Amino acid sequence: MTDLKSLIREVPDFPKPGINFFDITTLLKDPEGWKATIDALKARYEGIQVDVVVGIEARGFFFAPAIAYALGAGFVPVRKPGKLPAETETVEYALEYGTDKLQVHKDAIQPGMKVLIIDDVLATGGTASAVAQLIERLGGQVLGLGFLIELDFLNGKTKLEGREVYSVLHY
Ligand code: IMP
Repeated sequence: MTDLKSLIREVPDFPKPGINFFDITTLLKDPEGWKATIDALKARYEGIQVDVVVGIEARGFFFAPAIAYALGAGFVPVRKPGKLPAETETVEYALEYGTDKLQVHKDAIQPGMKVLIIDDVLATGGTASAVAQLIERLGGQVLGLGFLIELDFLNGKTKLEGREVYSVLHY
């Protein structure tokens, strides 16, 4: 199997000093690595009925549509405020300094819909946890959360306790 970690570029001090940034663009452009990534996520959820795959702006958009296609599901974008044109539901969540917001179209999630949430990196878990709450507020059933990379040392899983979490790679 392709060594996916060798395809991920680590950039020290980006976007600010002290942060070691995991750059996945080097994996995206590698035909074998890209295929192996989508195949790994597909394999995890194959056989489960998924209605829609939710991708989180921006890097979740690289992965979620491909996984949705592979599973025969729809794709729903969760976006930064002011980007979605129709009526939205908003979730606000805490960052290290201040807060941030994400939105989804209200009619994108119907009560009882089976939803898979996908993002590139699980760090502190704040983003993914907020998106799960957003989907549930609209009546969606969150089947699981899938990531390419999980930064184990940040313990993001504790914010997702009780939820089904899968990450292809662990650091
Ligand atoms: P969290 O809310 O702390 O779990 O941060 C997760 C969000 O931050 C995701 O949407 C990621 O795209 C982004 N993120 C955090 N660290 C990295 C990184 O090293 N590389 C790429 N994205 C990151």
